[in-house]
Amino acid sequence: MTGTTTAPVHGPAPRQNRDGHPCPPWCVTDHETVQYGTDGTYGFHGSARTYIKLRSRSARLEDEISVRAIRYGCEEPEPHVALAGTVFGAGAPAPRLDVAGDDMEGLAVMVEMLARATPGQHRQLAAAIRQAAAGITGAPDARASR
Ligand SMILES: [Zn+2]
Repeated sequence: MTGTTTAPVHGPAPRQNRDGHPCPPWCVTDHETVQYGTDGTYGFHGSARTYIKLRSRSARLEDEISVRAIRYGCEEPEPHVALAGTVFGAGAPAPRLDVAGDDMEGLAVMVEMLARATPGQHRQLAAAIRQAAAGITGAPDARASR
């Protein structure tokens, strides 16, 4: 018998989450070793996070806002952008915002516009958002008078 044989060429195995859902190319979530509660490893796909540090009420800690792409395994057909806020202090809010579709670019444009706003305009906008939300939900706008 003549000729040569070559071993099959195998690249690294495609990455996937705990349920066998293939990772999108931007996923950096550790699906292999990091345990999350009783469900095992992480099921969601997440990109690297960008953090923005902000002056805080605490002298020792900085508040932060993070943003990254997320896709929740097989349950969600399209990925979205997830923003999360960390505010230090007792009773501080833990805001989270998931934005999908055309709203992702709309949010980016508005954030750029807010760079030109004064702190008073930021507070005015926040109050207007809360007031509009209270009008929809009927919930009292507890922060409107702050
Ligand atoms: Zn993944």
